[in-house]
Amino acid sequence: MHLDIMDGHFVPNISMGPAVVEMARKHVDMPLNVHLMLSRPDLYLKTFIEAGADTVLIHIEAECDVPASLERIRELGARTGITLNPDTNPDLLLPVLGDVDEVLCMTVRPGYGGQAFMPEVLPAIRRIHDASVQMGNTGLTLMVDGGINRETARLCAEQGANAFVAGTFLFRAADMATEIKSLREVTTVAQPIP
Ligand code: ZN
Repeated sequence: MHLDIMDGHFVPNISMGPAVVEMARKHVDMPLNVHLMLSRPDLYLKTFIEAGADTVLIHIEAECDVPASLERIRELGARTGITLNPDTNPDLLLPVLGDVDEVLCMTVRPGYGGQAFMPEVLPAIRRIHDASVQMGNTGLTLMVDGGINRETARLCAEQGANAFVAGTFLFRAADMATEIKSLREVTTVAQPIP
């Protein structure tokens, strides 16, 4: 379960905070993937991990020491995740790509649901996939978030994405379970094109 945390500063919108993560933890058994769209995620790592986050994703564009924050997440016992916005050069991730558990590529500009997928992000997904494999980080979760539906999920899977955040698409579906199944099918069939 992916939870988008917005601070009204890093992104214009304000969404939920640690109390919602805590509530989710009490009601679902699945891993909680907590995406911190915060200017200063470093100040809240312990709060969100104590609230029940299994993976904490921080942005490479955040106003903090990103490698130190990832190290802190690891020390606190959670999986580490790094996120980048569509306009950010993926090579900025190279210093942390070797040992991070998860990379989240934003396929829309973050802040609001319901936006259209940005295909110009596809080469960045490929770049991150290839570089992580070269570095031996073959267990990397490479996730995409924003405008994900059957078609865009397949495009991302072909470039190496292996985890897919779908919000609007699933919540608007007539039958959410069927659409989750169809997303699994299209992304399992699509393999990274050499
Ligand atoms: Zn997210």
